[in-house]
Amino acid sequence: MTHRILILGGTTEARQLAGNLAATGHSVMLSLAGRTESPVAQGVPVRSGGFGGAEGLAAYLRETGTDLLIDATHPYAARISANAAQAARMAGVPIVALRRPGWEPVEGDRWTEVDTTGDAVQALGSAPRRVFLALGRQEVAAFEAAPQHHYLIRSVDPVEPKLAVPDATYLLARGPFREAEERALLERHGIDIVVSKNSGGAATYGKIAAARGLGLDVVMVRRPALPEIPSAATVDQLANMVDHLVEPAAERGV
Ligand code: NAP
Repeated sequence: MTHRILILGGTTEARQLAGNLAATGHSVMLSLAGRTESPVAQGVPVRSGGFGGAEGLAAYLRETGTDLLIDATHPYAARISANAAQAARMAGVPIVALRRPGWEPVEGDRWTEVDTTGDAVQALGSAPRRVFLALGRQEVAAFEAAPQHHYLIRSVDPVEPKLAVPDATYLLARGPFREAEERALLERHGIDIVVSKNSGGAATYGKIAAARGLGLDVVMVRRPALPEIPSAATVDQLANMVDHLVEPAAERGV
């Protein structure tokens, strides 16, 4: 059966899911925040930019006759996930999340887990270190509070304005990043500590595996709290759930 599905994206999995559901005959719209300057081509209809909070998203769901809302945003995009849960309730539309599991530390990992990027800055300590920041461009600003370190900063879009610190190197790159390349990067820049989000998945795990192999410290920023809604861990699992999640429109009183 064809359903009208809105996918909140901004992740590789959201793109894969959109393609997968469109290929099985669903009417799919992929929504992006519009932050990245050159999003990778999607192959399905895309809308871009915020909805105007939960109310705006609820109105969009009603206006478009959406049957199912899928929250496939990044695990650190907490605001849109909270809005999505609230909007689905307001509009009476079923919602499901695609949540990739976080990474767990394994033998040899030297992780310090913290709750916020501000805590990550503190965790670097006062002595100068050579730090790899594998964080979004919005999050790196917090590190201006610790200008004594050398920073290697990798982002998808340029960090503008640059950090007000004396010693920073910028790299532009989009994953996936393999372990061997990450290891070479960490060695080339003499990095001794990595700051990362616990994104989960394979695409950005290379730096974590590389840090373990080199015996480097990792400051891992924990995931934020997310709304409790039904969820799937993989694209295939979620795609298989879709028909069970959508009630026929007549039963929803649409
Ligand atoms: P956020 O703080 O949770 O959301 C901020 C606002 O951006 C939301 O209130 C919403 O605006 C808008 N927004 C976010 N995602 C949207 C989407 N998929 N479609 C339409 N509007 C959206 O989000 P964020 O952490 O800035 O992340 C922005 C986007 O980048 C997300 O799509 C996320 O999946 C992706 N991303 C984030 C990270 C990360 O680490 N945070 C990493 C990789 C990719 P309105 O309230 O006006 O609707």
